[in-house]
Amino acid sequence: MSEVRVRIAPSPSGNLHIGTARTALFNYLFAKKNNGKFVLRIEDTDAERTSQEYIDNIFDSLKALGLNWDEGPDVGGAYGPYTQSERFDIYPKYAQKLLESGYAYECFCTPEELEAEKEEATKNKKPYVYTKKCENLTEEQKAKLRAEGRKPAIRFNISKAQKAFHDTSILKFDDLVKGELHMDTSLLGDFVIMKSNGTPTYNFAVVIDDMLMKISHIIRGEDHISNTFKQILIYEALGAEVPRFGHLGMILAPDRSKLSKRHGATAVSEFVEKGYLTEALINFVALLGWSPSDGQEIKTVDEIAQDFRIGDVSSSNSIFEYDKLNWMNGHYIKMLDIEDLKERLKPYLTKYDLSEMTDAQYTRMVEVTREPLTILSDITDAVPYFFGETVEIDPKAQTEVLDTEVSQNVLKEFVKQAEGWSFDEETLHTKLEAFRAQFKELGIKPKITMWAIRVAVTGRTCGADMTAILAILGKDRVMKRVKMAMK
Ligand code: GLU
Repeated sequence: MSEVRVRIAPSPSGNLHIGTARTALFNYLFAKKNNGKFVLRIEDTDAERTSQEYIDNIFDSLKALGLNWDEGPDVGGAYGPYTQSERFDIYPKYAQKLLESGYAYECFCTPEELEAEKEEATKNKKPYVYTKKCENLTEEQKAKLRAEGRKPAIRFNISKAQKAFHDTSILKFDDLVKGELHMDTSLLGDFVIMKSNGTPTYNFAVVIDDMLMKISHIIRGEDHISNTFKQILIYEALGAEVPRFGHLGMILAPDRSKLSKRHGATAVSEFVEKGYLTEALINFVALLGWSPSDGQEIKTVDEIAQDFRIGDVSSSNSIFEYDKLNWMNGHYIKMLDIEDLKERLKPYLTKYDLSEMTDAQYTRMVEVTREPLTILSDITDAVPYFFGETVEIDPKAQTEVLDTEVSQNVLKEFVKQAEGWSFDEETLHTKLEAFRAQFKELGIKPKITMWAIRVAVTGRTCGADMTAILAILGKDRVMKRVKMAMK
């Protein structure tokens, strides 16, 4: 196979998982690095668990992360359709081929019979593999079972394929990430490739699709390793070229269990809603199993692609450190262009009336509040005091600051003096400095003086730069709030 062709093949049974995003990214990087093609295929054979909402979510999430595909359900391509449910007429042909060559056989066992086999195995403390009861049914026997109304499933004959293509029952392959992997395929059991209702199982559909779509390298999670052994034998039985496989370690939560909802967000769209930047997310997931050669972790996807080698990917599991993601996201927020940031913050400011502000005021508000933001949604609780006429005072700040005699004196003096000030930042800066100095002479620490003003104007003991806050709010509102805080 000369052309590198990779794919991401999500099943739309949920929103795009952050782990799938990493698998997609590594495939995308591999394609970029090798001038290859990145294909999106929707694996929706399980109709009950599939929904259009999840399919849309997969498209939107991959696009938001910048992982654009060269071929896929929406953009088409030479090997479509790219949605499995539109390919149902393709699979039976290949199942038939395997039946004819003897690498597959019809199985008439009922669910009850299979259940009894399983129980028997459990009783004998043996791992269950199908007994091959139907392997050698004669045409007469099959006709009789059909006449009883039984519809056969089709099973792949593992031992037959293994014997035909390998010397022992051990199947080996050289994994791009993990090195040589092997398995005794006699432990696998003859698995169903076509169900009795005529639909293919995952292991069969995936091989047919990867084969027909000329996929050259399959990079996916290590939870698929045992499937890979089955799939290799199907390729061989069909006389097809076996692609190269690379299996990525799992992504675990900080407590080393499987990453799940109870640890926090897991779907890309959930992270985005919370206010993670897609640039930060994609940079972060790249580091789950891969590290840059120069140790410089903040990188764009293009920069990562320059440096990416699948052989450098770690074969072990990675820990999803939410703290590290938060740090990285904060960093990306700090680096954003101000106009861009202003736009991206808007969805998190809908509870405020932004039309109260001029663009210059909004710009300044974002400039002075962006520093501590970890996620975009942090802005919601950081800015209430920039809006409305009055402000809600935090009860603790009320008793500890506003109720003190010192504060009340500060506010009284402030009202007197500030009436004559111009409320541009430059003037305010000088005036406030002098104001603090005046109280310092009376033995009152500058911090205490400013606290009184801050709590009166913002309702809280900490927040953005005070000069900027006063300038953005303007004299009228500041005076009104300070007067309200006075007893
Ligand atoms: N639809 C499968 C999944 O989502 C694809 C696995 C594969 O990449 O072969 O797990």
